[in-house]
Amino acid sequence: MSTPQLSVVIPVYNEEQGLHALFDRLYPALDKLGIGYEILFVNDGSRDRSAAILREQFQKRPDVTRVVLFNGNFGQHMAIMAGFEHCRGQRVVTLDADLQNPPEDTGLLLAKMDEGYDYVGSIRRQRNDSWWRHVASRAMNGLREKITRIKMTDQGCMFRAYDRNIIDAINSCKEVNTFIPALAYSFARNPAEVVVGHEERAAGESKYSLYSLIRLNFDLMTSFSLVPLQMFSMLGMLISVLSGLFFVFLVVRRLVIGPEAEGLFTLFALMFFLIGIALFGIGLLGEYVGRIYQQVRHRPRYLVEAVLEQSEKGEEGSGKGKAAAPDAAETAPRKARAKAKPAGDAAHPSLFADGEE
Ligand code: UDP
Ligand code: MG
Repeated sequence: MSTPQLSVVIPVYNEEQGLHALFDRLYPALDKLGIGYEILFVNDGSRDRSAAILREQFQKRPDVTRVVLFNGNFGQHMAIMAGFEHCRGQRVVTLDADLQNPPEDTGLLLAKMDEGYDYVGSIRRQRNDSWWRHVASRAMNGLREKITRIKMTDQGCMFRAYDRNIIDAINSCKEVNTFIPALAYSFARNPAEVVVGHEERAAGESKYSLYSLIRLNFDLMTSFSLVPLQMFSMLGMLISVLSGLFFVFLVVRRLVIGPEAEGLFTLFALMFFLIGIALFGIGLLGEYVGRIYQQVRHRPRYLVEAVLEQSEKGEEGSGKGKAAAPDAAETAPRKARAKAKPAGDAAHPSLFADGEE
């Protein structure tokens, strides 16, 4: 089973409380599909026992489990990127570790792919998130669609299926700050969406604060569109024209009515408003420049500490008889170290950067 039909990629960050529940539902669900599969967990530098739990699980099911261990927290999207680079399946499904999307629905995504779609997104049947997430995500969805022309009904839902050609395209990208569903969408020939279930988080709590959601949305906007910058040039032009007209008006007033010094506070209000816009514009410019800076430094985007996987030989040699299993399976770290050295300072692991050649 060196190229399984399906790879399931799961980023894991501090999920110790929910992992066992995930295993209990995920493996039977995939076994039931009756196809060759592998599950690829990417531990995104968890500080709890997640890594140890994944290791145990790997020893239990080495035939279908692989684990990539990061040596720091590089973010959900980088974890998925690493998953994509290590997975071998013809089709790839991404799933969150928190059981908010039922693994049993994987079949739905695959069935849709059988109809000839190469990228199947998902829409959460009824979202079980806090109300502010609902409102914010509805607003961001609308804005994003206008700005990036990427059509996703439900951008926040990571339960998606990708065909191998999309995975290869994504793997050839060296983007530092990215938003995987949108990247995949931009490569898809024939995207579709299906409705899947959504539940409350099984355990633990959301890893996204309001702040990190805002950051993520900036990634989404700036990585896929220049429209925000263009809007600023347009706005600048508009304001110039308006203030030109206003100037003419003031000159005429001066000639007709004579000198006046009223309206000081109106002037202040106007000034502050314009300064606000200007600052926002500079900030926006900074978002782009900062991303360019991160990109050109060519640092590794993430550092892999170890990969737990059954050695190719073990697999082929013993064929179906995975008897050689557990300890033969602990073959791991091979690819790892080479990449792990360079960046030296793990102090700011989430400060990413490219590389990973
Ligand atoms: N995650 C990750 N790295 C992070 C944050 C999150 O790998 O820095 C994983 C997390 O373990 C989960 C998935 O990404 O599997 C989605 O996270 P979460 O459920 O907290 O996001 P939400 O559902 O609230 O959007
Ligand atoms: Mg979640």
